Amino acid sequence: MQDPEILYMVIPCYNEEAVLDETAKRLKEKYDSLIAQGMISENSRIVFVNDGSKDKTWQIISRLHEEMPTYYSGVNLAHNAGHQNAVLAGLMTVKEHCDMAISMDADLQDDIDAIDEMVERYYEGNQVVYGVRSARDTDTFFKRTTAEGFYKFMKIMGADVVYNHADFRLMSRRVLEELSNFREVNLFLRGMVPLIGFQSCKVYYKRAERFAGESKYPLKRMLSFAINGITSFSTKPLKIITWLGLLMSVISILAFIWAFAVKLFGHSEIGWSSMMCSIWLIGGLQLLALGIIGEYIGKIYAEVKQRPRYIVAEFLNRE
Ligand code: UDP
Ligand code: MG
Repeated sequence: MQDPEILYMVIPCYNEEAVLDETAKRLKEKYDSLIAQGMISENSRIVFVNDGSKDKTWQIISRLHEEMPTYYSGVNLAHNAGHQNAVLAGLMTVKEHCDMAISMDADLQDDIDAIDEMVERYYEGNQVVYGVRSARDTDTFFKRTTAEGFYKFMKIMGADVVYNHADFRLMSRRVLEELSNFREVNLFLRGMVPLIGFQSCKVYYKRAERFAGESKYPLKRMLSFAINGITSFSTKPLKIITWLGLLMSVISILAFIWAFAVKLFGHSEIGWSSMMCSIWLIGGLQLLALGIIGEYIGKIYAEVKQRPRYIVAEFLNRE
């Protein structure tokens, strides 16, 4: 086998004081075993990205770094930038230091033992290795149905994502370089990475329950994440509006003929109720159409401002 390469594990953390010590401990065990097997270089690191937490998360991270700088590094963001931005911030900060990087959640829901296989697949020549959930029996029924519905809906709406893959993935330095050329502000990493291409594969793992603490993705945030994913990756909703508009036009021509015929045959008392119904229907459709268009205009607005997607306040890393 060739010389072991440098792996950086990037973990976004937002108010994760309850799990951080345990996560750090388990990642360290994995790190040691990977080194013992000669799979990664001793210059590898476990990097925690503090995404503007309000609790002691950053204190824990800097303590870990101080005590064991050859294991742990830390990136401190200046404010809460959101999960996707935090992952990107971490990856972009470490890309010059590593040969490959794995992003994963802090709450131990992503199976740490899948890392071995990911690294093996990397040495086999894969530039991207997607971690894919094989089962969701630990999720609540509600989370499971909404999440699986999310992937199916995304596909129908024209945003092609890897089914049941979230943000647990390995990327090579080459892919990180290419990712840095994507300048969009509305980040949706699981849609962007497949666009980069290169040889890729999937590794299956069982998603565990959150170790401690609470999900930072309540339903409201999940919904807005789904809408963001669709409108960032597909213009299909705009096309659907066009088709709907066309269909409505055809229907109204038919309605016009019908109304005219009724008048011709002398039954000119045209129903008030059907009139009211169509007003409501068309009003609703118009509002929906405007809403969808507005969604895209909002995106353009955010993109043209070209604001930085995150701000790194500190990077604790010992070479
Ligand atoms: N997270 C983050 N910034 C945020 C929200 C979440 O960095 O604004 C991190 C969080 O600490 C965790 C990961 O993103 O490591 C996934 O969040 P969570 O486990 O709450 O989501 P779920 O698994 O419930 O979808
Ligand atoms: Mg989680």
